[in-house]
Amino acid sequence: MEFYSPDSWCEALEIKAGYLDAVPIVGGTDVMVDLNFDRERPDVVLDLTRVLEIQEWEEENGRLRVGAGVTYTRIIAELRDELPGLAMASRTVGSPQIRNRGTVGGNLGTASPAGDALPPLYASDAEVELASTGGTRHVPVTEFVTGPKRNAMRPDELIAAFRIPRAEGPQQYSKIGTRNAMVIAVCAFGLALHPEQGKVGACLGSAAPTPVRAREAEEFIEGVLEWDSRDEIRESALERFGELVGEAASPISDVRSTAAYRTHAAGVLARRTLKWAWDEYRRSE
Ligand SMILES: Cc1cc2nc3c(=O)[nH]c(=O)nc-3n(C[C@H](O)[C@H](O)[C@H](O)COP(=O)(O)OP(=O)(O)OC[C@H]3O[C@@H](n4cnc5c(N)ncnc54)[C@H](O)[C@@H]3O)c2cc1C
Repeated sequence: MEFYSPDSWCEALEIKAGYLDAVPIVGGTDVMVDLNFDRERPDVVLDLTRVLEIQEWEEENGRLRVGAGVTYTRIIAELRDELPGLAMASRTVGSPQIRNRGTVGGNLGTASPAGDALPPLYASDAEVELASTGGTRHVPVTEFVTGPKRNAMRPDELIAAFRIPRAEGPQQYSKIGTRNAMVIAVCAFGLALHPEQGKVGACLGSAAPTPVRAREAEEFIEGVLEWDSRDEIRESALERFGELVGEAASPISDVRSTAAYRTHAAGVLARRTLKWAWDEYRRSE
């Protein structure tokens, strides 16, 4: 196995262009599992841990550009005010060791429907920045993930960063698993309120082949919420929101859960997180 460890982004892109099959590795918390279980035997591994350019984040005109190599631990510590939904999701990932190594770039690279970083990115209309020696392109995260563990990255590309608006209102993330820590989601839900636009972003994880935006539920609740008077949400509206989120799911039954339980859980998570986020919005008056 050839192992490349460039110390600049330009060099990394050149190596990727020269070895299209090279497997990038950053935290290694997915790649090393595949290697250890012999699921993958790459001829070339491209280690990006020495590339400082992807370990930075910055704010540009109210939007954040977060390098693909920023770890969950840093998102929790440095971006909890700017990206509260993603920070909440990051707290649910693995263990402290996994959060110290694992990155959102790696979560995007793996593109699992259970990836915890993905629902918050979907709920805030994030974009993935892909780069190659030919240039840079930005792809909405909803188009980047194309199927279970499949994404729209070309063989000569690497994930440079993701771009996401700074939170404009309360955000939530909630996850159900078979225990409280070190668990892959049975079902997860990310929610972002955008009070200035009167919009709601709602995304399910682990409930379909890819994370899925619950568009009908979003439209329904946008018509219900009283953004100016901040009235409490009626119980019947919470129920309907939960039902519509459940309808957006197309889950499977597997070792972790039955499809029926996932649909039920989706509705419960949706109702709860909406109530928490709306109560926070009412209190912030
Ligand atoms: C014990 C354990 C618990 C876990 N718990 C969770 C959990 O609770 N929630 C969860 O979502 N995940 C969990 N995971 C999975 C994993 O930690 C995450 O998916 C993590 O985000 C991967 O990041 P990484 O930097 O380690 O990626 P890596 O393993 O380095 O890479 C993952 C994939 O992305 C590609 N890749 C990485 N960076 C780039 C880049 N810049 N450009 C192009 N491709 C790239 C790699 O080639 C590979 O295909 C767990 C893993 C373990 C081992």
